[in-house]
Amino acid sequence: MNRLSGAYEIEIVLSRSAQLRIGSLGMCRLPRGRYVYVGSARGGLEPRVGRHLRLAETKRGGGRWHVDALLRLPQARIAAVRLYPGRDECDLSREVAARPGATVPIPRFGAMDCRGGCQAHLYRMRNAECGMRNNVKD
Ligand SMILES: [Zn+2]
Repeated sequence: MNRLSGAYEIEIVLSRSAQLRIGSLGMCRLPRGRYVYVGSARGGLEPRVGRHLRLAETKRGGGRWHVDALLRLPQARIAAVRLYPGRDECDLSREVAARPGATVPIPRFGAMDCRGGCQAHLYRMRNAECGMRNNVKD
């Protein structure tokens, strides 16, 4: 079960706005709210997602992905995780982009090596109806 390849999605809640440096993208500002990040892992979806969860929980440790800078923020927490074994991350990213209220807060976030034409692999969900039970208001 822990050798699965495929795509995953993590829902991140920012309880207040943030300013953060994200690798080559430089300083970015993110409003508080709900976000969905789409990633992929070859041969280890569960270890990869487990890493993100630990970082979000402990706020300690490195991480080379853009999303790690986000997860390290004190006001960031992971609200949900979904695994999609065998699925292409850009395919999943396009699906998330098409959900009601999805916007791209930081072009190219998480998608520096994307070949699927995605604007980014991080979306802000302005519409609260993304299957979540949480009281974050825009
Ligand atoms: Zn993509």
